[in-house]
Amino acid sequence: MEMSSKLLERAVAEISQLPGIGKRTALRLALHLLKQPADQTQQLAEALQKLREDIVFCSKCHNISDAEVCHICENPHRDASVICVVEDIRDVMAIENTGLFKGVYHVLGGKISPIEGIGPGQLTIVQLVTKVKAGGVRELIFALSGTMEGDTTNFYIYRQVKECDVVISAIARGIAVGDELEFADEVTLGRSIMHRVPFENSIKSH
Ligand SMILES: [Zn+2]
Repeated sequence: MEMSSKLLERAVAEISQLPGIGKRTALRLALHLLKQPADQTQQLAEALQKLREDIVFCSKCHNISDAEVCHICENPHRDASVICVVEDIRDVMAIENTGLFKGVYHVLGGKISPIEGIGPGQLTIVQLVTKVKAGGVRELIFALSGTMEGDTTNFYIYRQVKECDVVISAIARGIAVGDELEFADEVTLGRSIMHRVPFENSIKSH
């Protein structure tokens, strides 16, 4: 895309790095910002910078947090022996919205995806396995989306913890294969957590 300004070109190049944003949309957003008062862009830039600089990940569950331990892990009414394994904060938010889950989470930070070059080492799998091996965990619930990457990740973790004294289950597939958790409605998602199945059964079913 040939542009009359190098500054505009750079801004468009940066914005179009964001997922789901092509060059055209990036250009539209950049031009939109130029039309708004300058302090709006300033606030946007500041908010993004602050997000990067000040964000903390909970030392227990690796969820995005404002404190060293997040409010879920800190809550004495949550059962720390039941851990729901999710991909990211959006899944935590979706499951929290159901109001049905009283355990805690472990946020992996993604899924194993050879195509996108994401290996187990880039996720918090080691920390999860260490947590399980340390004892005190009664149940692991896999709640990753039913994609191939989700299945691969589940199975990778399963292989490392199956010898441990822990119940391993997966959310019931009321959620269609390939659906992302965050798009599931609360009733369906809540039901699929309550009706979770032993993980071994979920492997055989597909
Ligand atoms: Zn936490």
